[in-house]
Amino acid sequence: MSWFSSKKKEFSDEPIIQERIIKVNGDPAVKSYRRGKFLGKGGFAKVYEFYCQESKELIAGKILPKTALIKARARQKLMNEIKIHRSLHHKNIVGFDHYFEDGENIYILLELCTNQTLCEVMRRRKRITEIEVQYYIFQLIQALRYLHTHKVIHRDIKLGNLFITDQMELKLGDFGLAAKVEFDGERKRTICGTPNYIAPEVIDGRQGHSYEVDIWSVGALMFTLLVGKAPFEAVDLHSTYQNIKTLSYSFPEHLKISKEAKMIIGDILKVDPAERPSLDQILSSPFFTRNPIPKQLPASTLAVPPSNS
Ligand code: ADP
Repeated sequence: MSWFSSKKKEFSDEPIIQERIIKVNGDPAVKSYRRGKFLGKGGFAKVYEFYCQESKELIAGKILPKTALIKARARQKLMNEIKIHRSLHHKNIVGFDHYFEDGENIYILLELCTNQTLCEVMRRRKRITEIEVQYYIFQLIQALRYLHTHKVIHRDIKLGNLFITDQMELKLGDFGLAAKVEFDGERKRTICGTPNYIAPEVIDGRQGHSYEVDIWSVGALMFTLLVGKAPFEAVDLHSTYQNIKTLSYSFPEHLKISKEAKMIIGDILKVDPAERPSLDQILSSPFFTRNPIPKQLPASTLAVPPSNS
């Protein structure tokens, strides 16, 4: 499957990146990409639009300098990310096209999500309506259902990892902290990096953690989308962890948040992972069933509330 967008665009004199390939007949050849618009930067990576000169199509190109991958652990983490991400194929997961390297960098080519992430939406909107939360979380749950069936835990669900396409579809991305469950009942012990909506069992560490950490993040994310700030936010990390362990969060009284929304968030944010609902149970809660979930949101909602709210 190809993730190239068919949109045509001309770049003037941006750098050209060359990929060495072997043709089907065994002959060596070169594929050229023009590095276009800067899309964003992560830990070590910078992401740009890549314009493939042969196919005249656009894709997202993540550039990782090899100097950032000198430590074995950093290399191993990247290989883990690539191995997991390239095995995934779902309409709500950012498509992984392929990767290649030259002397300086590793290039990962990904499905282009032109409408950025929910992080930018929240920066503009502060908070979004319940209908919009239904729309986005429904799609996130489809992605998680696929992931968990394929024995993958994402472990870093956050606004900045929820990408939006030109069609306003939500796509889960960034598998940098993801883990494959190797056998039924396996409990993971470590997470390298700091997940945003960290679950209490990860902080505690004693009993290990599994798929339920993603469910926890869905609850914390729903709260954030409706309220405009994370549920356990505090002055420092220690206080945040304390708030998580003691479930200290509350809905601001001045906001009109429905009892159905409060109920499902309360059901999800349980300290004991076994008490949290399954993905299907979340979708059959009144918050998701009381009205039909919209099939599409207008692109205007990236910046302003929907007109009927
Ligand atoms: P890292 O894994 O190093 O954190 P990310 O994958 O989060 O890097 O990418 C950094 C930024 O690049 C994102 O916040 C986003 O703005 C942009 N970006 C990443 N992937 C895409 C994509 N597929 N389409 C469009 N923009 C992207």
